[in-house]
Amino acid sequence: MKSDVYYLSARTYGKKGSMARFKGPLALQKIGFENKIKPNNKVVIKTHFGALENTRYLRPSYIRFLCDYIKSLGAYPSVAESCGWGVPGAKGEYGGRANEKEYLEVALRHGFTQTTMGAPLLMLDGPEGLNYINQKINGKYFEEVRVAGRLKEYDHMILASHFKGHSSASFGGAIKNLGIGCVSKGGKTEAHTGKTFKFNFEKCSPECNKCIEICPTGALTRDKNNQLEFLEEKCRYCYMCNSVCDAEGAIDIGTVPREQFIYQMVDNAKGVVDYYGNDNISYINYAIDITWKCDCSGGSDVPFVNDIGILSSNDPVALDQACVDLVHDSLMNPYSILTEIKGLSLNEKDDWFSYIPRFDKNELNLNIEGVKSNHWELQLKAAEDMKLGNRKYHLIPIEIEKED
Ligand code: SF4
Ligand code: SF4
Repeated sequence: MKSDVYYLSARTYGKKGSMARFKGPLALQKIGFENKIKPNNKVVIKTHFGALENTRYLRPSYIRFLCDYIKSLGAYPSVAESCGWGVPGAKGEYGGRANEKEYLEVALRHGFTQTTMGAPLLMLDGPEGLNYINQKINGKYFEEVRVAGRLKEYDHMILASHFKGHSSASFGGAIKNLGIGCVSKGGKTEAHTGKTFKFNFEKCSPECNKCIEICPTGALTRDKNNQLEFLEEKCRYCYMCNSVCDAEGAIDIGTVPREQFIYQMVDNAKGVVDYYGNDNISYINYAIDITWKCDCSGGSDVPFVNDIGILSSNDPVALDQACVDLVHDSLMNPYSILTEIKGLSLNEKDDWFSYIPRFDKNELNLNIEGVKSNHWELQLKAAEDMKLGNRKYHLIPIEIEKED
């Protein structure tokens, strides 16, 4: 059976066609959002505020109008993100997203505040990224997922995702917003590296205490003989100790090939949906500003295809598949990275996600030689295999009346 995906084009003729004011709320209405929530419900909108240097994240106006729509139904909106990797203060490296205080400063610079949203802003995994709930799953790599803990405070979640490329996942949409965006700080790290976590204190630099000082839970300490000690029961798996450690091999959090990262991200997504319930999530993708760089990237390149529009569904896999297909059904932007890649034609449509730059062996490969990658398909197949949704869909275009 096919899943329904609603599609509102980015073409706009007048006020009624406003992407922010009308098409966003209408996309939610089409998937039955109004039947799913009741007056006084608490509704959280999970989006991405963008890394510090990024300029292609979703404009705040899209989210503000969703907040207004939720209020018009008598419910209470909040706008959420989750803490990024690493330690606060390393803004150049992590784009200023390591904890709530730091990320809300970036959000402020990017136009997301309580005033502009008309709603509170929060990190779904708590102020330091330590708030999570373990969800058991039967994943390809993971048996347990660290689902962002503050989700339990809300009756419903709108997963408002910017659909664009991603140098490790190939593309980022609803699946990635679940699997990376709705897990704790440590859950993000684990998707990228695996659940390896070993200390080899014999490799430590003499007198170093950096991990002890940064650990927010007291899980690292020195015993009465001044030997380093890891108290596993206190650990909240934030991996900040790893981020401050300079001694090679003293802390090992693993590393995985790109394919495994994709599977682990999908395992995480499955954990989030199993925990929260798919009926409690409404999915909306904004397929605009489609660059090869994710919102988590420092800097933004120009889009490699034109804006497509807003799509919504109750099925995250069908939704992402529809967005991928619409991108692949577009001509390339003649001023984008795709023109630098050998063998691609300006005049033909192609599966563009197969060619965009990617991380290979921990290095960015601009793929000038035009080597194809099927990782976009791997993500969709993995998600379907994990029973997150259906790759077959029925695309339902919604026409907006033209006006002056
Ligand atoms: S930060 Fe690294 S080198 Fe320093 S004590 Fe901790 S594990 Fe050892
Ligand atoms: S020991 Fe655990 S809680 Fe402490 S910094 Fe490392 S991962 Fe975080």
